[in-house]
Amino acid sequence: MAILKVARMGHPVLRAVAKPIPPSEIASSRIQRLIEDMFETMTEYSGIGLAGPQVHESLRIFVAGVREADLTPEIGDDRDMPFMAVINPEITAIGTATDEDWEGCLSIPDIRGRVIRPAAVQISAYDAGGRRMKLTATGLPARVVQHETDHLDGVLFFDRMKSFESLTFMDEFRRHWTKHEDEQ
Ligand SMILES: [Zn+2]
Repeated sequence: MAILKVARMGHPVLRAVAKPIPPSEIASSRIQRLIEDMFETMTEYSGIGLAGPQVHESLRIFVAGVREADLTPEIGDDRDMPFMAVINPEITAIGTATDEDWEGCLSIPDIRGRVIRPAAVQISAYDAGGRRMKLTATGLPARVVQHETDHLDGVLFFDRMKSFESLTFMDEFRRHWTKHEDEQ
């Protein structure tokens, strides 16, 4: 396993449209190692999602998940998400309801901003074992899945913001916008 270098905003790989992974290659040692390395990299940098282009692999894959023990005031204490590798995802919104909440990105360090997204989505994809999967997500997982799938199309969360008024550095976010300042 290895911790991979994370591409930061400005690197062209973050603006490219990533290529699908042929399902027959998901079991290959290259893709299996990439999945392991992406989980390790996401954990190392305390992320809750990480997409292929963020580690300089222009492939349609992301990993996501958060352990209950790792929940922080910045993420919130009422949300958890199973660990999953998602390959060649296709996402459709369920209904017309939207949610607005904070987002951050390992490729845009130390900045948070509020983004409006569909509140519920259906995801059709392949899992790490090369099996077709379909799942529905709401709340934090729905937001993460949409944020990560955007990465596969060269879209960053800034692009989804209706206004930049909420853009906040992490220090100021912790000081003014978290619910649990006393636990910092
Ligand atoms: Zn991101």
